[in-house]
Amino acid sequence: MKQQNRKMTYGPSPESPDSVYSWLSKSKKKFGHFINGEMTKPKNTFDTINPSTGEVLAKVSKGTENDVKLAVKSAKAAFKAWKNFTSFQRAKCIYALARLIQKNSRILAVMETLDNGKPIRESRDIDIPLVARHFYHHAGWAKILEDKFTRKEPLGVVGQIIPWNFPLLMLAWKIAPALAAGNTLVLKPAETTPLTALFFAELCMEANIPPGVINIITGDGETGSFIVKHNDIAKIAFTGSTEVGRLLRKQTAGLEKKLSLELGGKSAFIVFEDADLDSAVEGVIDSIWFNQGEVCCAGSRLLVQEGIQQKFVTKLKRRMGRLHLGDPLDKSTDIGAINSFSQLEKIKSLVASGEKEGAKIYQPKIEMPTQGFFYPPTLLEQTHQSMDICQTEIFGPVLTVIPFRTPKEATAIANNSRYGLSASIWTENINLCLDLAPKIKVGVVWINSTNLFDASAGFGGYRESGYGREGGIEGLLEYLKDPKLSRKLNSNRKSSIKEVNLVKTHETQTIDRTRKIFIGGKQTRSDSGYDRKVFGFRKEVIGQVPEGNRKDLREAVEAANQEVKWRNMTPHSRAQVLYYAAENLELRKKEYVSILKKMTGIDGKQEVESSLETIFHYAAWADKFEGTIHDVPIRGVSLAVNEPVGVIGIVCPDDNPLLSFVHLVFSALCTGNSVIAIPSEKHPLSALDMYQIFESSDMPAGAINIVTGDRRTLTQTLAVHMGVDSLWYFGTKEGSKNVEELSISNLKQTWVNYGQQYPWLKPSREFRTLSLYKATQVKNIWIPYGE
Ligand code: NDP
Repeated sequence: MKQQNRKMTYGPSPESPDSVYSWLSKSKKKFGHFINGEMTKPKNTFDTINPSTGEVLAKVSKGTENDVKLAVKSAKAAFKAWKNFTSFQRAKCIYALARLIQKNSRILAVMETLDNGKPIRESRDIDIPLVARHFYHHAGWAKILEDKFTRKEPLGVVGQIIPWNFPLLMLAWKIAPALAAGNTLVLKPAETTPLTALFFAELCMEANIPPGVINIITGDGETGSFIVKHNDIAKIAFTGSTEVGRLLRKQTAGLEKKLSLELGGKSAFIVFEDADLDSAVEGVIDSIWFNQGEVCCAGSRLLVQEGIQQKFVTKLKRRMGRLHLGDPLDKSTDIGAINSFSQLEKIKSLVASGEKEGAKIYQPKIEMPTQGFFYPPTLLEQTHQSMDICQTEIFGPVLTVIPFRTPKEATAIANNSRYGLSASIWTENINLCLDLAPKIKVGVVWINSTNLFDASAGFGGYRESGYGREGGIEGLLEYLKDPKLSRKLNSNRKSSIKEVNLVKTHETQTIDRTRKIFIGGKQTRSDSGYDRKVFGFRKEVIGQVPEGNRKDLREAVEAANQEVKWRNMTPHSRAQVLYYAAENLELRKKEYVSILKKMTGIDGKQEVESSLETIFHYAAWADKFEGTIHDVPIRGVSLAVNEPVGVIGIVCPDDNPLLSFVHLVFSALCTGNSVIAIPSEKHPLSALDMYQIFESSDMPAGAINIVTGDRRTLTQTLAVHMGVDSLWYFGTKEGSKNVEELSISNLKQTWVNYGQQYPWLKPSREFRTLSLYKATQVKNIWIPYGE
């Protein structure tokens, strides 16, 4: 037998593109937008091409501002009817979409592969089945929504902007929950991958989705910006680059639009020396070479324990040499084409700069196509954390490798990133992986697995990977609001004004006391050396508080970041500390009632009683605001853990100065956050005095820091500070806008009141629950389980 006959080679096994071509021909390869239930005439067209050949597949229209206006108008007109559909009717519509996707799964998979460049194996076995699953799952939610969320309502018209890496899957992630919650929508697919969205538009007609409920406008970034800027859009759901995410935050600041951002990542793939190395190698292949590495959660940073580094990398290189790169329609292709010429150029230039930085490039000698946008699987060795190539998202088939010695070091390297999307941990030691999972600051952790997604498990990041979740209950909540909350806000505004007017005058006595700010568990003088006068309701001076400045806040943020005891305390122990604080406040009730009276003129009894009740409320929740377990359709489960956001800055309002402080601070503390609180600027005394309560209640140093002073200056410092993970602001409408605008530096989460007054004395159940949600973010940990 001749040598070559002994070798097993793959023959070509291409999937036929004919069904797609004949569908394209029906429209003469030209498409308009899907507005109000029908396709518009093609206009201002641009090409969408097959990135593996350069062939023009079709011409699609670039959406203008007018197109967006028409789409929003039709979505607005459809909203009332869609909202008033019974849950059963809505569920049936979404179910019909799921069924149609399944019936058309082959043509959709081929079309996705042609337009995006991804291998047919992936579009056929991963993308499209997940798309169907998403619609099925949310058809279920549509049916039982009212049972689960008794008082919630849809938002209205939502704008959705998606990228090119998983075109139809991202559409499903956005559209299915929006519809299930009763919203109508305008969605823009990416410029380079519009075809499956246009085919989906046809499915909407076939499924009898009422006209205007779903609108699809094709186009580029400018078209996207028309959606973002439209006044009638209640929420923007965006997936894409961190840069554009940041821009959207800025553009929507102060506009009272909900915003969810699913952005980039630079995720760690951590292999310990006791891992099943062959499985881990397969994991790496899936983690970084799935979808050509054009995956936001791609495990692009391989961290290998030093003792096995050489062995593991050798195995990996051998496996890389067996990857098949080429025609994406071929069923044996592992790596397809990069989506666009510009993305290919970006990958090339980042790898070249990595080489300049000193990285050693390994690319296996595999056959490369002679046309189209292809890039070989690439491993960059001799890299270290400070290199740009280890910090910048490449969004391509490029992996860096860094050794580590101890679990502690692996955690530190994994967390050394501005992103926080996902991590994959490989070890046979269950204690080790469950020890690491909470320590890595990411929204998703996969244990001995990678790139697992499901409609029931929320997906999304921490830090500059964005906020908000897609999928799971959290994803659904993104598309719902609490109407009772906003009604209460307005009614409360009137009642508190009345209360102030009814105040009888009382004799007051000036309090002669030196108050300090509270940082890292210590009472301290402000760096400014100045105090500010506090006036009573009759305009007389009733005390002085320190004029906190930037330096004070920097120290407070540092203390909050260094705090570990509170964060690591068991929820039960945290509850005990909070109950203890209530006991101590109870002992000094009279004193607080009197301070409140002096500051506001209102009898403070009710406010102090409510503060005690509020502390009890959040102490009770401390060990009950638990996560959940998702039954994902794999051999495993996903643990959705409610993690504290981290360091929360809280700027308190002037109304109910003690109670509002207690509500906000204790809801943040009870879930394990550390807090920097700025008490009411006008009435700061009662909140500042709370440090005495904290000091006597075993609260660990740094968990709560209190700085008084000029609200505007202090808020600005917190908003731009990279060490603050979330900023809650309860002040003016203008101040709210500023907070949203300024928070873009590290994309901190924000919760602002847009100048509205909250019903602190009669908080609704929803408002209290919302505070707990704002204080936490969900981490999904996928673990193998069962047979
Ligand atoms: P973008 O963030 O630019 O695009 C994502 C979506 O937003 C697209 O639909 C895009 O339109 C649209 N868009 C662009 N600018 C605006 C704007 N000003 N207002 C509203 N919508 C806008 O990502 P790119 O496609 O340009 O990719 C650039 C880099 O981003 C990649 O190299 C990768 O690193 C990262 N990326 C990350 C993704 C993720 O899932 N985390 C997904 C995609 C990219 P259009 O298609 O016309 O540009």
